[in-house]
Amino acid sequence: MATVEHAYVALEADENTGGVVFAKTLQQARKRGAQEYSDGVVAHIVCYRAKWADWCAPSSIVPASLLIEYGWRLECHGCGNDISQEWLEESCLSTQDVIGVQGGRVFCCAPCKTRDDEVESEKRRFEGEFIETLRAVVRQRFGDVKFHGTGDAFRPGAYILSQDGAYGVGEAMLHFEFPGMSIAPATIEFRWPFSFRWDGIGPVNLVYRCCAGDRLAFEEFAGEAKKVAA
Ligand SMILES: [Zn+2]
Repeated sequence: MATVEHAYVALEADENTGGVVFAKTLQQARKRGAQEYSDGVVAHIVCYRAKWADWCAPSSIVPASLLIEYGWRLECHGCGNDISQEWLEESCLSTQDVIGVQGGRVFCCAPCKTRDDEVESEKRRFEGEFIETLRAVVRQRFGDVKFHGTGDAFRPGAYILSQDGAYGVGEAMLHFEFPGMSIAPATIEFRWPFSFRWDGIGPVNLVYRCCAGDRLAFEEFAGEAKKVAA
């Protein structure tokens, strides 16, 4: 039995999508391919040797450019184009311009990655501002509660949408503790209402949640907080 891992192509038979996997035998490669590309169903996997990627076996990292050189098409995470040899030539680019590795974000060229990085950092800034707004809403309603930070399972988060340079919040949540809480923090949740217009004008849909076991304590706390605010 071989002890060194070799590269194999594993493809989901119907979709004809997949990637390179590393394994000691064809059988093992099919199994790994199935885990990766067909929900574990080995029968759906077509697998064959890919000697051209053997040199990647020690690191298990396959450059996107290598896949494209061997006839694969990968989507650019920035512009959304299907990157292939032909497309690169038509766009006056080459595989040397392609950035990224299999399983990660792939870009057709450096400017595309820079643009995407800018969008990402703008999204993070927008997310931070929106979470801060949610904190203000909760403080206004409940007073000075303790919010969960970024370091635990109850970290705040927002899903930010972007389109043509405009940003919007798809959904966001923030968790906070309250007196009498015994199981888990309460949550303020924002969800994009379908009536919402892209420019952000529309009804704001905020929901408070807590787990069933803490419901009475939360309702009592909310009732008290309301009295104080009034
Ligand atoms: Zn691109």
